[in-house]
Amino acid sequence: MTAPFDVAVIGPGPAGCACAIELARAGWRVALLGPLIDDDCRSGEVIGPNVRRYLPAEKALNGIPIRFVASEWADQGLEMRDLQLETGRAAVTAARPALDQYLLAEACGAGIRHIAAKVLWCSRDDATWRIHLAGIAAPLAARFVVEATGRGGRSPAVDGAKRHYLDRLVVLWRLVAAEGADDNTLHLAASADGWWYRVPNGHGRDFLALVTDADLVPAGTRTGFFEMCAARTEFTADITTPLTPVRITDARTSLRLPQSAPGWIPIGDAAFSLDPLSGDGVSRALVDGIEIARFLTSGSAPDGPTWDLRDVAADRMRRLMRQLSARFDYYAAVTRWPESVFWSRRRSAADLYKRGDKAIIFQDPRRATALSIDGGI
Ligand SMILES: Cc1cc2nc3c(=O)[nH]c(=O)nc-3n(C[C@H](O)[C@H](O)[C@H](O)COP(=O)(O)OP(=O)(O)OC[C@H]3O[C@@H](n4cnc5c(N)ncnc54)[C@H](O)[C@@H]3O)c2cc1C
Repeated sequence: MTAPFDVAVIGPGPAGCACAIELARAGWRVALLGPLIDDDCRSGEVIGPNVRRYLPAEKALNGIPIRFVASEWADQGLEMRDLQLETGRAAVTAARPALDQYLLAEACGAGIRHIAAKVLWCSRDDATWRIHLAGIAAPLAARFVVEATGRGGRSPAVDGAKRHYLDRLVVLWRLVAAEGADDNTLHLAASADGWWYRVPNGHGRDFLALVTDADLVPAGTRTGFFEMCAARTEFTADITTPLTPVRITDARTSLRLPQSAPGWIPIGDAAFSLDPLSGDGVSRALVDGIEIARFLTSGSAPDGPTWDLRDVAADRMRRLMRQLSARFDYYAAVTRWPESVFWSRRRSAADLYKRGDKAIIFQDPRRATALSIDGGI
């Protein structure tokens, strides 16, 4: 069977679209598979100034400029950053459905074929993938699968590619009335229960979120817990007008292992997802998609030999280790609440990490295990 597509990219989020655009511009036959995500928690996302070189069209962003970051994090009090001064550009809130639609339109313009059906499962023989889509009888054939399915647990392509969770982070969030005009500032503050952020959402609303561990939220009391934590935190104590119910979103740090298999690679959040503190998930997804596409198109023609992905996967793991290390340093700077379960978990994970050799430490106290990166690629 000859594969009609060189590459099937599963998942039309930022990673999948960026990869598909790059491959199609290099003349490859690309199928981009899956529905656009429809998740309103993404309305609180902020896209850093560095991403804007990948998204030159302002209409792709269509959000509120965020020039300042006001942070009450470590113990030295309020710290203000001016992104415009530091980088020459402001960040911007991401109108996520609009951003994804824009990227998909760019991909279609570059010549990819989009099929808005969910991928159920895939099989591979004779170096050809057969990809089974919901509601479509005949499988689609491709030589290579790029998996860009986001944070989901199960890989629709490679059964053995499991997601490993490094913590139990969740985001509790609601829209609240903005105090005064939109102030173009992202507010960030550590608290005993985790950390808060608040960002303008337009039309007199702010997106207010508490990032904490799932098991610290007592069962059935999501709203009560959110309000209790808000009331005892100076940062949120005067925010009184809720506009929506409290919602909860999975925000766990995780990685998929293995990071590659013959004819398959995960990208973006499908490869690893960092906790939202980094605020760079969209940027990482775009860069990852572009880099993998360039790797695929650099060495071989579409009908050339199979690719050796192990070096790419190893590079990516080294990057993840650097990012996790920076995260541990950032968390370790918070020492104000010695009794806090949330912070003591992070302090002990940081200690273990520093003592470990090339190992990722799970922060789940029931599974204080180290996972060797070298063995997992
Ligand atoms: C609470 C929270 C706050 C965040 N805040 C920020 C922020 O402020 N700034 C920032 O840059 N990032 C933020 N992020 C991270 C950011 O959302 C992600 O890193 C980014 O969306 C990853 O892009 P992606 O393309 O890898 O995955 P996604 O955007 O998740 O896209 C995955 C795509 O795959 C599709 N899909 C899934 N399964 C299948 C299947 N079986 N078949 C076909 N299609 C499928 C989905 O429909 C979707 O279109 C935040 C994340 C969370 C959880």
